[in-house]
Amino acid sequence: MGVRESVLPAPTTRRGLLRWGALLGGGALLTACGDGDEQVVAPGAVQERPEEITDPDQALELLRQGNARFTAAREQHTAHTVRRRLQVARGQHPFAIVLACADSRVPPELVFDQGLGDLFVVRTAGQVIAPPVLGSIQYGVEHLHVPLLVVLGHEGCGAVGATLEAVETGAASSGTAIDSLVEAIRPAVERARAAADEEHVLAEAVRANVADEVAALSADPLLAEAVRAGRLRVVGATYDLDDGAVLFS
Ligand SMILES: [Zn+2]
Repeated sequence: MGVRESVLPAPTTRRGLLRWGALLGGGALLTACGDGDEQVVAPGAVQERPEEITDPDQALELLRQGNARFTAAREQHTAHTVRRRLQVARGQHPFAIVLACADSRVPPELVFDQGLGDLFVVRTAGQVIAPPVLGSIQYGVEHLHVPLLVVLGHEGCGAVGATLEAVETGAASSGTAIDSLVEAIRPAVERARAAADEEHVLAEAVRANVADEVAALSADPLLAEAVRAGRLRVVGATYDLDDGAVLFS
């Protein structure tokens, strides 16, 4: 395992992780949370981190910190540099797979303030899983050794909303491939309708859909083996369109 551009060891303690996070640009946020001696990186400084991250919890912490920067409008944008582009041209070591909705308002790289080579992103409407989607995720785990898989749903999802409408109206199939989305999301919508009132049913369906997708991925033999071996963690999350916050479940 090498490092991207300098010799910055991976942290082994929470304190180390926080300091490491500060070097990644979260210093001011972390300081605000009470870690008084963390470093604060000057705006525009190029931060470093290990080239390959294998610890699922470390990867999740990077996403949390990136989303905190995004919501606070303190993005780094450091991973879009020419130097970074030339680095990743030699090979990729993304630290998280993100299965996200295709919705234009939820681009994972922006939401988590990450750049070239950081995230292995698979997107379909409603994050619906089909064989090529699962194959892409399996590739990321088995061949790229990505330690974290995030299923990212979001507030006001159109695919979930359309499924809710189809269920409520009993609409006939459209005869298009959109039907495949509706059928995939339908179980979550039906559970949500039984559990939530009209005002909250869409939000509940979004959460239920993410839960179903996490369960389906966790049941995949290849992914389940990676989880058992400690090489992978699978988590669900939802994104708030208004404040930009990602809530991990
Ligand atoms: Zn959506």
